[in-house]
Amino acid sequence: MSDLRLVSKQHSEHKSVIRVGDETIGEKELCMIAGPCAVESEQQLFEIAEGISSLGIKFMRGGAYKPRTSPYAFQGLKKEGLKLLKSASEKYGVKVVTEVLDTSLIEEVYDYADVLQVGSRNAKNYQFLKELGKVDKPILLKRGMSSTIDEWLLAAEYILLGGNENVILCERGIRTFDTSVRNTMDIAAIPLAKELSHLPVIADPSQGTGKRSLVTPMSFASIAAGADGLMIEVHNEPEEALSDGFQSMYLDTMKEMVLALRKQAELSGRTLDLNNKFQEII
Ligand code: PEP
Ligand code: MN
Repeated sequence: MSDLRLVSKQHSEHKSVIRVGDETIGEKELCMIAGPCAVESEQQLFEIAEGISSLGIKFMRGGAYKPRTSPYAFQGLKKEGLKLLKSASEKYGVKVVTEVLDTSLIEEVYDYADVLQVGSRNAKNYQFLKELGKVDKPILLKRGMSSTIDEWLLAAEYILLGGNENVILCERGIRTFDTSVRNTMDIAAIPLAKELSHLPVIADPSQGTGKRSLVTPMSFASIAAGADGLMIEVHNEPEEALSDGFQSMYLDTMKEMVLALRKQAELSGRTLDLNNKFQEII
């Protein structure tokens, strides 16, 4: 039997709306978060920030501290990456979503992030989740790669119980027997999490599939399934990316996808505001 309380629909009949400055997550407007897997340089980040902000995307992702399977892989630019995120955010008017790897980094990341991302690998780090409950900024909580839906929602319960009600759930695929994709994206988890909980649910088809060509179809599927938004990895030069290039979209493809998604949003009773200038082009 599940022990869901604060996270459950029983606790709040109304859908929670998360406020991030002048933006909201969980209303009719879809929340689009896009950016590189990792911050690599000023040139890389600014080019991507310019590209996504010109489409009207309001949230930029980018890891400064990266949780990598291999200790020899690029670990992120750390504080330097956070500073770049902040300056790109100021220059291009996008909000920053970036990962906090553990309790010792909460204070540092807090100063640079608008939304703190908790990675799949940390979804069962209960002491850390308790600490995030004390933070007064929104938390984007990835589903653990081996978490059941109940375990994922209970991870959110830890954060709410600590006093932070601003949690956004993010489906990012789970480990299964199938090795033809990096993860198996669980589309059914999206409507189910929304059935069980009042929290907004977004989808990350980049980690969810690990394959660039699958990101657009799974984005459509996620919105059709009721997702409140998407987190997408996009890179100015995916072939040169220091992490996750194979699943990162090109800026051009991102533009095409966003245009098509706007129509899909309407079909799903949602909206997707695009930049005014960009709208004139279409
Ligand atoms: C990421 O978003 O780059 C990431 C590492 O995600 P996850 O924690 O879902 O693997
Ligand atoms: Mn990544």
